[in-house]
Amino acid sequence: MNKYFISANWKMNGSKEFTRTFFASMNEDIDEDVKIIICPADCYLNTVDAMAPKNVIRGAQNISFNTDGAYTGEVSASMLKDLNVEYVIIGHSERRDYHVETNEIIRKKFNTAVSANLKPILCVGESLDQRQKEETFNHIENQILSVINKEILSNHPFLIAYEPIWAIGTGETATPEIANEVHSFIHGTLDKIDSIQSKKIAIIYGGSVNSNNAYDLFKMSHINGALIGGSSLDANEFNKIYKIAKEINNE
Ligand code: PEP
Repeated sequence: MNKYFISANWKMNGSKEFTRTFFASMNEDIDEDVKIIICPADCYLNTVDAMAPKNVIRGAQNISFNTDGAYTGEVSASMLKDLNVEYVIIGHSERRDYHVETNEIIRKKFNTAVSANLKPILCVGESLDQRQKEETFNHIENQILSVINKEILSNHPFLIAYEPIWAIGTGETATPEIANEVHSFIHGTLDKIDSIQSKKIAIIYGGSVNSNNAYDLFKMSHINGALIGGSSLDANEFNKIYKIAKEINNE
């Protein structure tokens, strides 16, 4: 298993010019050991393909759980596969909140993705209120068990992103200890499904990751990289975070 995945969630940001400038300033060699996954808006997936250096992997930010048909505005898993997209973010908290995506909808999207051989990045995470009420572990276990089962764990590659909602876009990162505690809990939850297959699942952290906090986060035993929103829009910052992961990987 790769130890680190550094993923960019550009959300509804970017343009052709942004994409060109972003990759023009990507000065690190992208290697196979520390993966880079860029998730632009769907309309820029081909632009990323044309402009990104070798070994940059592409992901989408969402899919429909329907396979095809009269669903205006939706994009299917097979369409993404047709563009050679490898990953898709499923269950980001912004989709759960603003688009009312329930665990049931997320389960359907996850299954649609793996049926089309797309690799999901399943996002889970608690709100501040849930953390304060000590509901974090129950909530996350529920989010995972409503999607992941033994068949999925055995047969389909995927990533999990732990993204505490209170840390997304707020500048407030979970401490490395808090994040690692939840990552360890997630590994334990997967272990209970299948303790051999669970070893191959990487868990990345998301929530105000930047070049100042990345080192301490990536050093933690259960943290396998990051899903990065705000800092992924700054090529210099994103490069620095990638470099940190590479340095730790080579230690
Ligand atoms: C995200 O939205 O996935 C995210 C982690 O955003 P940010 O890095 O801006 O907190």
